[in-house]
Amino acid sequence: MYTVLAGGGGAARFLRGLTRLVPPSEVLAVVNVGDDLTHLGLRVCPDLDSITYWLAGVVHPEQQWGRAEETHVVASELERFGHEAWFTLGDRDLATHLHRTLRLSQGASLSEVTAEVTRAFGVDLRLLPATDDPVETRITTVDDRDLHFQEYWVRERGRPEVASVRLAGAEHAVPAPGVVEAIESAEVVLLAPSNPVVSIGMILAVPGIRAALERTAAPVVGVSPIIGGEVVRGMAHRLLPAVGAEVSAVGVARHYRQLLDGWVIDHADAALADEVRDLRIACAVTDTMMDDVEVAAALAGTCLDLAASARTQAGR
Ligand code: GDP
Ligand code: CA
Repeated sequence: MYTVLAGGGGAARFLRGLTRLVPPSEVLAVVNVGDDLTHLGLRVCPDLDSITYWLAGVVHPEQQWGRAEETHVVASELERFGHEAWFTLGDRDLATHLHRTLRLSQGASLSEVTAEVTRAFGVDLRLLPATDDPVETRITTVDDRDLHFQEYWVRERGRPEVASVRLAGAEHAVPAPGVVEAIESAEVVLLAPSNPVVSIGMILAVPGIRAALERTAAPVVGVSPIIGGEVVRGMAHRLLPAVGAEVSAVGVARHYRQLLDGWVIDHADAALADEVRDLRIACAVTDTMMDDVEVAAALAGTCLDLAASARTQAGR
């Protein structure tokens, strides 16, 4: 099994590449759920849904989240009633959230519902939420406001200065069924280029998951989400300093150093490769900007090669 720790968009692109190389049935992604929210009474899971829509080939091509060929009839009708409009849910997307909310209210777990949703979209790799328990990423701003991650990122467009990040509820959360086993029995564990603080950080904050990564016999290889000192998308550059990490390809490697056997960085950061190796982490340099699926597949291949050489070196 190829087990991938995943956030949203960056992970979705990576998984699309990986499944060009290995059978989807051998791929399992453990996905961040700290960004999830209840909006207008509906349970929304942005990272699980982004990955599903990407892999099903129905993601909105420009937006790169939500559904292609989307309409917004329900959202505009809801404005009539004065509902908050900052978090947009298109009509097609709404069906996913309606189904999920209904099934959760009937007592299904998030993992069960996720399996139903991926099956319905014909996605043949397994997606597991990191946990079925409620964990919420909260942002404390320097002006001392406590915001849900989506209030910070979507409503306030990531403008407030971040003082700290809290993963509320993580300490009481239990890994979803199959997560620990997927890490322990993996052939390779991959860290997708996802936000290290909120996406991978949330997964690692669930008690038992970090320990499984430290214990697994599988090589653990990650892709830097930072290219040339900058994020490709999103707000990792605003959040890394809040956890004391440097915004660079080597800074993120240092942040993960207890876990990593290998780290893949972009050509733009080739000069940092030796600094990564000084951390006793094997390093490969390649094209990591996944503008198309061919680049993503080649990147996944580099990760698997690095994992194989890490395994040989460790005599595993
Ligand atoms: P989300 O899509 O908002 O859920 O965010 P993710 O958790 O997927 O994290 C986005 C992170 O992945 C950011 O730090 C981006 O810089 C990084 N990222 C996104 N696309 C790419 C890519 O094509 N290549 C690399 N190397 N990093 C990427
Ligand atoms: Ca996300």
